[in-house]
Amino acid sequence: MLGHSHPILREAASQALQEGMVFGASTPWELEFAEAICDAYPSIQQVRLVNSGAEAVASALRVARGATRRARILKFEGCYHGHVECLDAVGLEAEANGGALALGASPGSAGETLVADFNSLESVEKLLRQHFREVAAVIVEPIPGSMGVVRPATGFLTGLRELCDEHGSLLIFDEVLSGSRVARGGAQQLFQVRPDLTCLGKALAGGMPIGAYGGQSRWMSQLAPVGKVYQAGTFCGNPVTVRCAIANLKLLSEPDGYLPLASQTEWLTQALKPLDPHLQCVAYPGMFSLYFAPREISSHLDLEAVDLARFATLYHHLLKRGIYLPPSCLDAAGISLVHTRSDLESFVEAVREGLS
Ligand code: PMP
Repeated sequence: MLGHSHPILREAASQALQEGMVFGASTPWELEFAEAICDAYPSIQQVRLVNSGAEAVASALRVARGATRRARILKFEGCYHGHVECLDAVGLEAEANGGALALGASPGSAGETLVADFNSLESVEKLLRQHFREVAAVIVEPIPGSMGVVRPATGFLTGLRELCDEHGSLLIFDEVLSGSRVARGGAQQLFQVRPDLTCLGKALAGGMPIGAYGGQSRWMSQLAPVGKVYQAGTFCGNPVTVRCAIANLKLLSEPDGYLPLASQTEWLTQALKPLDPHLQCVAYPGMFSLYFAPREISSHLDLEAVDLARFATLYHHLLKRGIYLPPSCLDAAGISLVHTRSDLESFVEAVREGLS
């Protein structure tokens, strides 16, 4: 969110380096940071720090299974949650690798995973009924970023909330990508839906390796030493990371901190849209995807219509001009607070040139 080496983050890291790089114990900084997270995300009463998004997801699943004493997890095709055994074993990448099971993944853990279609409450309801009271959690990227950026249809996220309540399953928002990016309180702030557990990472620490998961105390208190669900790690809450993360959130929490990002993103979308009738630019503040298709994607079921070859040509054209988009149009691209309007104008100009 602050670019690749913001002076505020360099300062925070160097102070931390002078005071100690690792203690294998909690520090007061960890507490200050936890309070900043709870302040930004009203659904989070307690939070645990880990080292990556995948770790946050794996730990949240463990809390959900421990709290409900159920084994199954329901996920959505096309949503990415890191290389978590039971979630990575199905899905697009797995299919591309020749089967429903990612090579090396345990067949047992894959067997516990149910896969629904994003934006289809019917597909979720059907699975929850078929596996009545077996599903510990429904995990979703509220704004998916790995099948292009996809808009959740009106009522989809609130519908998930209601279905989870009805079936006694926890609702987990994987906001590793959208958290602290699309808004200070992530996608749950934009859509006003409260998950039971939230996974965070990436933008939270301004470039340092981090993951975090949290939610209501009734779920988080399942964790040892209060409860019986075990999770720990040597580098969790590492002081260098945490000092940067505090500085990062402080800067992002300034009044109107996100407004420039929203207006830059809006400007970019409006500038790109007229360039080609098949060019789709789907964006939320700070994240967008650019792909060629007759219409916007609403789930993995629409992916066949995406012209990957045409994007590849544009991608290489942009790369030659020093613009580095994600190499797949199905991955989200980012705009940060240090991108200027003139950066975005050069980007649009380069896209225009590439298209012609
Ligand atoms: N969840 C989502 C939504 C992600 O986008 C990612 C990373 N792309 C992850 C989880 C995994 O995070 P990490 O790479 O930090 O393990």
